[in-house]
Amino acid sequence: MAAHDSVEQKYVYDFAEGNKDLKDLLGGKGANLAEMTNLGLPVPPGFTITTEACKAYLTTGREPDGLAAQIEAHLESLEREMGRRLGDPDDPLLVSVRSGAKFSMPGMMETVLNVGLNDRSVIGLSNQAGGNDRFAWDSYRRLIQMFGKTVCEVPGEEFEHALDEIKSAKGTHNDLDLDADDLRGLVDAYKKIFAKHTGREFPQEPREQLDLAIRAVFDSWNAERAILYRRQERIPADLGTAVNVVAMVFGNLGPDSGTGVAFTRDPGSGAQGIYGDYLANAQGEDVVAGIRNTVPLQELEQLDKTSYDELLGIMARLEEHYKDLCDIEFTIERGKLWMLQTRVGKRTAAAAFVIAGQLVDEGLIDLDEALHRVNGAQLAQLMFPRFQLDHEFEAVAKGIGASPGAASGKVVFTSARAVELAAEGESVILVRRETNPDDLNGMIAAKGILTSRGGKTSHAAVVARGMGKTCVSGADELDVNVPAKKFTVGGRVVNEGDIVSIDGTTGKVYLGEVPVMPSEVVQYFEGELDPETTDDALVRSVHRIMTHADAARRLRVRTNADTGADAARARRFGAEGIGLCRTEHMFLGDRRELVERLILASGEREREDALAALLPLQRADFVEIFREMDGLPVTVRLIDPPLHEFLPPLEQLAVNVAVAQERGEDVAKEEALLAAVRRMHEENPMLGLRGVRLGLVIPGLFAMQVRAIAEAAVAVVRDGGTACPEIMVPLVGAVQELETVRAEAERIIAEVVGDSGVEVLIGTMIEVPRAALTAGQIAEAAEFFSFGTNDLTQMGWGFSRDDVEGAFFWRYLELGIFGISPFESIDTDGVGRLIRIAAEEGRAARPGLKLGVCGEHGGDPDSVHFFHEVGLDYVSCSPFRVPVARLEAGRAAITTAGSDSR
Ligand code: ADP
Ligand code: MG
Ligand code: MG
Repeated sequence: MAAHDSVEQKYVYDFAEGNKDLKDLLGGKGANLAEMTNLGLPVPPGFTITTEACKAYLTTGREPDGLAAQIEAHLESLEREMGRRLGDPDDPLLVSVRSGAKFSMPGMMETVLNVGLNDRSVIGLSNQAGGNDRFAWDSYRRLIQMFGKTVCEVPGEEFEHALDEIKSAKGTHNDLDLDADDLRGLVDAYKKIFAKHTGREFPQEPREQLDLAIRAVFDSWNAERAILYRRQERIPADLGTAVNVVAMVFGNLGPDSGTGVAFTRDPGSGAQGIYGDYLANAQGEDVVAGIRNTVPLQELEQLDKTSYDELLGIMARLEEHYKDLCDIEFTIERGKLWMLQTRVGKRTAAAAFVIAGQLVDEGLIDLDEALHRVNGAQLAQLMFPRFQLDHEFEAVAKGIGASPGAASGKVVFTSARAVELAAEGESVILVRRETNPDDLNGMIAAKGILTSRGGKTSHAAVVARGMGKTCVSGADELDVNVPAKKFTVGGRVVNEGDIVSIDGTTGKVYLGEVPVMPSEVVQYFEGELDPETTDDALVRSVHRIMTHADAARRLRVRTNADTGADAARARRFGAEGIGLCRTEHMFLGDRRELVERLILASGEREREDALAALLPLQRADFVEIFREMDGLPVTVRLIDPPLHEFLPPLEQLAVNVAVAQERGEDVAKEEALLAAVRRMHEENPMLGLRGVRLGLVIPGLFAMQVRAIAEAAVAVVRDGGTACPEIMVPLVGAVQELETVRAEAERIIAEVVGDSGVEVLIGTMIEVPRAALTAGQIAEAAEFFSFGTNDLTQMGWGFSRDDVEGAFFWRYLELGIFGISPFESIDTDGVGRLIRIAAEEGRAARPGLKLGVCGEHGGDPDSVHFFHEVGLDYVSCSPFRVPVARLEAGRAAITTAGSDSR
């Protein structure tokens, strides 16, 4: 039982001991340094302290037993290999201490370079470098600066300020103009700053520097910005970071040294070529910091052809090995190339598709793998219209792309003004520091929303995504002054009424109106671009991958469509039927009057007349839809919303009646209507008289709809077409409800269909939790189930969707109660469990029961994977989401367990 009996846990791995698949344990940086080492690439030697050590430290507040000794052992072997000891006064080994988590969190955590330098080893370093004093003191001042800032929380500005002072005393802006004496002086100044803020001298003991730096990297996992970033990117909070200790190589040894970054392909477009930046005589952090201007990587060819050629060779090798776009950090020390980092590079949505296609062409990956490398979110992004940007337009600010799309309009600062101007037909962009629930009307009225604060889970972002509205959040260069009705950015003032353009994908903000161009991917889906002949690499690649997804997927994809036009478009987008045809719009417009008559009918006769008048209108609607979907199934949902939604609102009616009475007009009809509206008023209409309940209460209503469907199908078949109607009863909670509706429907269908050969299925929505829990019983009376995941979520959580998203979801997201709105992506634990139960028990009762989904989740990538896994037959989603669902259904089918596409 005693802990010391067990084999001591291994917390430290030499680079030679790791490989790229150990990201969980070694972090991305460590795993890839190990991989490169084992490929025989020139990586400075070093070792990695595991994420397990970090986690142990973070839970207990101290380094786990055995860690110190393991670090000592690996340090000793590093010293042997390098022939130098850490911080040796005569011939010092220096190391970097670098963070590196499983998922890259750029700039979020800490790195300290040049650990091992002190007042004595700085002289040794200078001797090592052939008496290069300038280099040695430059390295030392960098250590004090980075160590002070990251390990001891000394404000970074103080160091920068001291550096600026020395530069201006010298009359220069370039740190290369500082000589050894200047830098020695700077070290003194830095040490004073350090002592002032920490109350102690800068630690001279190399091993203490190392231990403190390691601890600081552990701690940086829980720095505030890292926590915020993880929340935004949905990276689990308990992974911890690894720490890499790497022998230093020096890019700041003179003009024959330098440092750079490179990509093996253009991460913006996927085009092949040499992309990167190089900075001579500098250490790595200078490139990112933008202290001096870098040169394009191509210029390295003139500066150092040997290193350049070697680098290109290594890049090709890495691409071939990782079979993907890689990004790289390297340093050249006096003509010798060193690799300091590589990883599979981030890329834009377009580049993801293009690169996947290229890699297939090059024989590096197969189509399964290509399908795995792209995703539905990227495809959805490519289907939005984009800004047509030329040199005229330069972004004035960049925030977070919180809800995609491209929007231009007049700036307004209040919800009220947004509503006012929108009513006049203006496009407006609502600009706020951050939004709150009172801004809801303005957000609805606006074309886009721009805030200077808040991230991807802020109120503005969450609500905008729910509405499908373009939103840029957290554009912190904007200084928004609502009372003064203006904002300033980069010294420019933007007043109410000025035009701005925002890109909800890139997060960029432009002044003036930027023209919008349609998506070529949509043009392709619409059949306007031929993928075989186009020279558009993106379209060619999308076509190939979609074709493969279609061949791979098991889930069918249908669409939600209520009109012939929507049905036709969805079919072009690849829909294999209609999963949800709502009939409520068929009661609107000039048909309202018939609905009023139906509701106000004083006897059976009047009601039947109203229904008889509605019948041919409905039939015509169905004929149009069945024709467009010729040969494919069409699920028609019987009327679902409460009938009073078709009547004028209470307040308006009351006013009309009062005014008419005053004038002494005949108001009998209005009064009757008003009385009906009062009678039908409901506190919770979503839980009231709707769906199947209406069908059971209003005689003849469902019968009329069933007859219209059956007659339409017969008409289409008589014309030589093929109609496959499926009648869906909404809001069923008990099998008896369905049985009652079914008995009447079957009678009517038999009578209408006769020997026409038309077959009509009857099934139900599963959207009331009780229906899911009694699915075995309900299946006895249903030929299919269609999960209405919006209502199932609403009733499963007890959330009124229209109210909660604006009211408090932002808070729930902030607290991590859920990582994403359950209306956006299916809550697999709760609502998903209801679906699982219903699918299993339904199929047990009726083998071959057809199962589908018609809520908005049918087009959400993660939800599609869940529906695949649960074994549904199809998903149904809005026409624009059909390609996304096809792609994700294909990915779900080829995704092997445990693979990770992040
Ligand atoms: P980040 O994850 O922020 O990129 P890194 O750990 O990669 O942080 O290090 C920051 C910079 O320091 C990078 O440019 C890197 O190349 C450079 N660097 C890190 N370790 C060394 C080393 N041993 N020798 C020289 N430069 C290094
Ligand atoms: Mg790096
Ligand atoms: Mg519903």
